[in-house]
Amino acid sequence: MRPIAALPRRRSKAPDTDVFATSNYHLLADGPIMYSAPDTAWLQLARTRVLVAVYSPNKKLNAATVATELLPILNAQKAYLGGKLPVKEYAFLVTLSDNRQMTRYGALEHSYSSFYYLPESMPAKELATSIRDVASHEFFHIITPLNIHSEEIGSFDYIRPKMSAHLWLYEGLTEYAAHHAQICAGLISEKTYLDRMVQKATVAKKQFNDTLPFTELSLGALDKYKEQYGNVYQKGALIGMCLDIQLRHLSNGRYGTQQLMKDLSKKYGKHRSFRDDDLFSDIGKLTYPEIENFLRTYVAGARALPLDSIVRLAGLRYRPTDTVQQAEVAFTVGFSRVGSSDTLQISTMANATKLAKRIGLQKADQLLQFNGAAFSTKTFGSLFQEYAASAKAGDKVSWTVRRKNKDTGEWQVQTLETTIVEEATVAPTLKPLPNATAVQQAVYRQWLQR
Ligand SMILES: [Zn+2]
Repeated sequence: MRPIAALPRRRSKAPDTDVFATSNYHLLADGPIMYSAPDTAWLQLARTRVLVAVYSPNKKLNAATVATELLPILNAQKAYLGGKLPVKEYAFLVTLSDNRQMTRYGALEHSYSSFYYLPESMPAKELATSIRDVASHEFFHIITPLNIHSEEIGSFDYIRPKMSAHLWLYEGLTEYAAHHAQICAGLISEKTYLDRMVQKATVAKKQFNDTLPFTELSLGALDKYKEQYGNVYQKGALIGMCLDIQLRHLSNGRYGTQQLMKDLSKKYGKHRSFRDDDLFSDIGKLTYPEIENFLRTYVAGARALPLDSIVRLAGLRYRPTDTVQQAEVAFTVGFSRVGSSDTLQISTMANATKLAKRIGLQKADQLLQFNGAAFSTKTFGSLFQEYAASAKAGDKVSWTVRRKNKDTGEWQVQTLETTIVEEATVAPTLKPLPNATAVQQAVYRQWLQR
């Protein structure tokens, strides 16, 4: 497979050897080579040629399927960026693994390509959609940091890497745009979009330190605050949403983060880095003093985002703890392996949901089947993914378990069954205000381009 970033292949004297040459280390680090039996598909987007290459060891997924899945999202992103893309060539390199011991997967962006490493065990349809979801984020990195970055990144020190303070921009605004482009293009509903944003607010609060200044997190992302890094995709994206809504509000709907990113890439660009310390005042000058103030208070400062007061500008309200009726589909029991076998047992019911208790699961139950399918260390990931994607109120659900009889000490196999119902659950919500003013409604429409 040809690497997209000019790495010329030379014919080697040995027939079983290929030699690739590069003029400097950066090109090598920035131009991954996928070396495998070829399975490729090409897409043409405006003047950009996009290559999709897939390696699936057991041929579960092919490049044509991934390309079909990617096309609508790439078109949405092209429209979002004003009808053209800032690169002439781009490659999506997808490698699937059938190594079941592997538990860590992910993706990496480069200037002209992005690389995806995912488990082949996922159902093909879900694999394609998850590549699409991750790709919409990775592809947007062609804007930042690739075209908007600080000196720390522009002249990256590979030996002693130094972080910039602005991951909220590189990762946060990229993640924000990846979802915002989808609603602007009508690929997802308003409800889906708002649910995704509320989910980010929940994860940011539950799993991360919500008041750690984001600039500190960023500077320490490689060491001190490593475990906080994941918040760039949560709070980082919410910072993007807060900026976009405030910009729309201040400009009577004319200006948003989309234009801001365009203006910043014009001001800086691929070969011109900004100084970390100047960015907030540069953005203040390009936009409004209120925006600079927001960045200094909530991005550089130790304060949680004022989500409710900002979404109100767009006629919405945010409640971190609302009572809603929801189909309860999760079990949230703890699992552990039975000895060194593939069988899983319940290790704790401490956080078990009402559903788990109602169906009658107990600690130490060995789990043999879930909804009639064999349940083990090998299958639980894909079984739960499929279930979570489709389960709804009214569905029957079943577990077949092996349980030790307390009186006789004998192991008995039994099947537990129940029906999924709606439960009153405390959950965060992001909803339209019932009495939003015309001004608030206008900001909402311009923000989500309805
Ligand atoms: Zn990223």
